[in-house]
Amino acid sequence: MIYKRSSALFAEAEQVIPGGVNSPVRAFKAVGGTPIFVKEAKGAYLYDEDGNQLIDYIASWGPMILGHAHKPVVDAVIDKAKKGTSFGMPTQIETQIAELAVSMVPNIDKIRFVNSGTEACMSAVRLARGYTKKDKIIKFAGCYHGHSDSFLIQAGSGAVTFGTPNSPGVTQGTAKDTLLAKYNDLDNVEALINANKNEIACIIIEPVAGNMGCIPPKQGFLEGLRSLCDANNILLVFDEVMTGFRLSKGGAQELLDIKADIVCFGKVIGGGLPVGAFAARAEIMNHLAPLGPVYQAGTLSGNPLAMAAGLAMLTELNNGNVFESLAKKTEYLHKGIAEVLEKRNITHTINRVGSMISVHFCDNDVVDFETAAKGNNDTFKTFFHGMLNQGIYLAPSAFESWFLNDALTYEDLDKTIAACEAVFS
Ligand code: PLP
Repeated sequence: MIYKRSSALFAEAEQVIPGGVNSPVRAFKAVGGTPIFVKEAKGAYLYDEDGNQLIDYIASWGPMILGHAHKPVVDAVIDKAKKGTSFGMPTQIETQIAELAVSMVPNIDKIRFVNSGTEACMSAVRLARGYTKKDKIIKFAGCYHGHSDSFLIQAGSGAVTFGTPNSPGVTQGTAKDTLLAKYNDLDNVEALINANKNEIACIIIEPVAGNMGCIPPKQGFLEGLRSLCDANNILLVFDEVMTGFRLSKGGAQELLDIKADIVCFGKVIGGGLPVGAFAARAEIMNHLAPLGPVYQAGTLSGNPLAMAAGLAMLTELNNGNVFESLAKKTEYLHKGIAEVLEKRNITHTINRVGSMISVHFCDNDVVDFETAAKGNNDTFKTFFHGMLNQGIYLAPSAFESWFLNDALTYEDLDKTIAACEAVFS
């Protein structure tokens, strides 16, 4: 495939945008080469500026779970846009999407909308600190909760790719309140809690990690966190920015049957527009301004276009059986790729939960950041570019999960498996 125009557009972008991109992972630094510039997308396919058609496995990093330009979502946005795009005043649609979200997700009574997953996690932690009157938080190495200062301590995905997990600009003062634990290691968390008695406001975690590839929680791990939180007056914050409205209607809480105290959302909840949200039971949420003292605000929060897209998306997800269909497709892809890699004697570990999947080129189990980092990046690069040359767009980093969308057909999956075979033959 030819990517001439994309390369030229990237060179032009580099003159006026740092690194040519507005989010680092898009720059292809982890895999080499230059990024593909998208012109448009429909269903499971991206159409780039060179006229190539690509089968999309990132779905805008999660949001486009029903495929691109999904008609009910697009229609809802167009309809709303004609009536004004921002008011800075309450609108009925905010209550409608809030009611629907609260009805779909367990253990939440109230939800507040923001503009990104980063804002959702940042606000959730402030709320947890305000509610518990404690300062420290525990996060897990390799988990990403957005680019707010407290979270840029061994964050996964883009931060890992760039080798700057502790970003300059994050002060020592901020960093000292973020305690770092090992994913899937309960003893490690318990030791941190014991060493910081009565100081920890919350544990924030991706209940299924998606920022060091896809890493499922080990049996008993989240249950153990729940018990530790209950015993130590610590809030358990589930960052469901990736997993929310993707793994099931009620997200990871429902799928894994674990109760979180605060839940963060992003990606799918906005139907492809910039939306995040955080939610909890009323007793906690009532600490937020204007009811309570914990301040949180946003000029464009609850924006009508964003709410219209989100409401249309959640309505579709609430009515259909998308999650089952997606899980089946992902299982099919898993089996197909595993068969190819086995046949070709390529060392690999594939992790999968629902419609999240990642291929790691290593022979160890991938259960945390350390084991994820053992993957062979050269093989990943060969795989990535080999697939791209055949029109398959994978996440351009070994530390990312793939996100399937329900517009993918079994024919698309077969093409993807065949492309994998071609790469390694
Ligand atoms: N939390 C998780 C689990 C994420 O994967 C991401 C982004 O990928 C974020 C938070 C931040 O969301 P956003 O990029 O919308 O700020």
